[in-house]
Amino acid sequence: MAKKFLFLAGFTIIALTTFAQNGYWQQNVNYQMDIDFNAENHTFRGTQTLVYTNNSPDTLDHVFYHLYFNAFQPGSSMDVRSRTIEDPDPRIVDRIYNLKPDEIGFHKINKLTQDGEKLDLKIEGTVAEVKLAKPILPGKSATFEMNFNSQIPVQIRRSGRNNEEGVDYTMTQWYPKLAEYDRDGWHSEPYVAREFHGVFGTFNVNITIDSKYTIAGTGIVQNPEEVGHGYAETTATSEKTTWRFKAENVHDFAWAADPEYNHLKTTLSNGTEIHFFHRNDSLINQNWTRLVPFTEQMFNIMNDKFGVYPYPQFSVIQGGDGGMEYPMCTMISGTGGFGGLVSVTVHEAIHNWYYGVLASNEQKFPWMDEGFTTFAQNFALDSIFKRNKFNPHERSHREYISNVLSGKEEPLSTGADHYKTNSAYSSNAYSKGCVFLDQLSDIIGQETFDMAMIHYFNQWKFKHPTPQDFKRIMEKESRMELDWYFDAWIGTTKTIDYGIHTVSYNGKKTIVEIERIGSLPMPVEIKITSDKGIQYSYIPLEIMRGAKPVPKGIAEPWKQELDWPWAYPFYRVELDIPFESIKQIELNPFQKLADINPSNDVFPSSNVSFPAE
Ligand SMILES: [Zn+2]
Repeated sequence: MAKKFLFLAGFTIIALTTFAQNGYWQQNVNYQMDIDFNAENHTFRGTQTLVYTNNSPDTLDHVFYHLYFNAFQPGSSMDVRSRTIEDPDPRIVDRIYNLKPDEIGFHKINKLTQDGEKLDLKIEGTVAEVKLAKPILPGKSATFEMNFNSQIPVQIRRSGRNNEEGVDYTMTQWYPKLAEYDRDGWHSEPYVAREFHGVFGTFNVNITIDSKYTIAGTGIVQNPEEVGHGYAETTATSEKTTWRFKAENVHDFAWAADPEYNHLKTTLSNGTEIHFFHRNDSLINQNWTRLVPFTEQMFNIMNDKFGVYPYPQFSVIQGGDGGMEYPMCTMISGTGGFGGLVSVTVHEAIHNWYYGVLASNEQKFPWMDEGFTTFAQNFALDSIFKRNKFNPHERSHREYISNVLSGKEEPLSTGADHYKTNSAYSSNAYSKGCVFLDQLSDIIGQETFDMAMIHYFNQWKFKHPTPQDFKRIMEKESRMELDWYFDAWIGTTKTIDYGIHTVSYNGKKTIVEIERIGSLPMPVEIKITSDKGIQYSYIPLEIMRGAKPVPKGIAEPWKQELDWPWAYPFYRVELDIPFESIKQIELNPFQKLADINPSNDVFPSSNVSFPAE
C-alpha cells in the first residue's frame, strides 16, 4: 500500500510539472548590428538586421521599439518626471532640462523595412510604434532592417559619455530595441526612470571604433587577437578596430569604452571567466585588484545556493554611475571605499541571476529582481565578510517597517515607474521584496525554501517568470497553499502584528493568549524560557494546509500546536510549566516576521529590538 501511494504521489508531481510547461511560449530575437563609432562628436551610425520570431498564438500587426536615448532631451517624460516627483533623484533633478543640443541623446531612424518592404514609424518620445507591412503569423518570423544614427548624451543616469569618473562611454540602453510581447501582452513602456524588459535571443554586435579604446560588455569577443587590450596579444596597428561580440540567451546588450581601462581577468574552477575593467588610478587599481577574490567568492556562493551562472563570462565594468545590471556584465562606480565597491559588485553581479537569467518583467514586478537580488546579496555578504548576523536581512526588515510607518507605502504590485515617490519604490522593490522571501523561508521551512529557490532558477531560467510561476514552484515544493501570503504581501499594504495578550495560570498550566492585531495572518513561533530551559511552540495557519518541519539546528523541544484558523483574533497556547518557572515568553524569536510592533512580543518585558548590526 505504501509503495502504491508513493508511486501515485510521484506521478502527480510529474503530471503537474508537465502541465505547468504546457502552453508556455516566448518570442525570440536575433540581432545583427554593425556600429560605426565617431568618438570625435560622440555619435554613431548603425545598421540593424533583426530576425523576430513570433512564437505566440497571436497574429501581430504591429511592433514597438524602445528608443531610450530620446529620454535625454529637455521636455522628455524622464525630464518632466524627474522635476515633478515629490522626492527627485538627486542624480537627475533638472539636469536633463539643462542639456544643450550637443549634449542631448537621440536616435534617428533613417530606414526600416520588413522583409524588404518599407515601414512607417510613429515615434512618441522613447517609443516607436511600427505598423507592419504584413502581419506576422503564429510560428512565423520577419526580418527587420534598420539604418539609424544616434547621439550619445552626457551621462546623467546609466548611459552616456564623459561621466564624473572620467569613463568615456557607458553604452547602455543605447540602440533601438524591440519591445517584448509575452503571455501578458505588449510591454512598450516609455523610459521614465527605470527598469527594463526585453526579448531573449542572440546578439551579434560589431563595433568599429578608434583603436585606442578598450571595450567591455555583454557577450564574448569573437576576434580577441585582432582587438588586443587584454583579450589577447595583438600586433594589429590600424587606426580603427572592429570588435566582434556575440551573446546568446540574453535580452539586452550593453558595453563601455575607455582608452585607459585596466583589464584584469580570473577564471573560476568551473571555467567561468570574470573580467574587470577599471580606470588607471593608484587607489582604483589597488581596490579593484582586491575585489577579484571577493567576486570569485560571490560567484561560488551563488552557484551553490541559488543556481549555476549559465554564461561563460562575466564583466565588472567601471561605468561611473552608481551600479546597474546588464546581461553578463555590470556597470558600477569605481571610486569610493573598498567595502562599498564589494557590496555594489556583489549586488549588481547577483542581478544576473534575477534580472539577467530569470528576467521577470521588472516594470511590473521590480521586487522579483531587486528584492530577490537584495535577499541573495544579504546572504552572500554575510558569508563573505563572516558577519554571522542573527538575521542577515535585518536591515531590509527595518527599511520595510520604516516605510510602513512613514505612511507612504504602496502595494508591491505597483509598476516601477508609477510609485508616488522614489523612496516608496526603493523601499518596496528592495526591502519589501527581500522580506517577502525571508518570511516565505520561515513559512515553508528553510531547507524546503533553499531547494525551491534552485528549482525555480533551473525551471524558469530564460523564461520571464511571473509571481504566479514563482508561487507554484513554492507550493509544489512545500505542498502548502500560499495564495493568502502572496496575495496580501504583493497586492495590499496589510501588515503583520502579533502580540502577547495575556499570560495566566490555572493551577496546572500556564496559558498564553496571543492576539492577531495586524490584518495579515502568519504562522507564529513562540520561544519559552523557563527553569527547565528553552522550548518552542509553533502554530501553523489553517489556510497553509501544512506545516514546516522542525527547523534544522533546533536542539530544544519543538511543539507543533493545532492550526490557527486565521479569522480568530485570539489563540491560546497551554504550557505544562508552572507560572513561577517561566522566565520569558517571546513571539517571533527568529525575527523572520516583519512584525510592525515588536513591543508586544515579549513577556514580561515590553520592549524588543533587533540585534545591533
Ligand atoms: Zn539592484
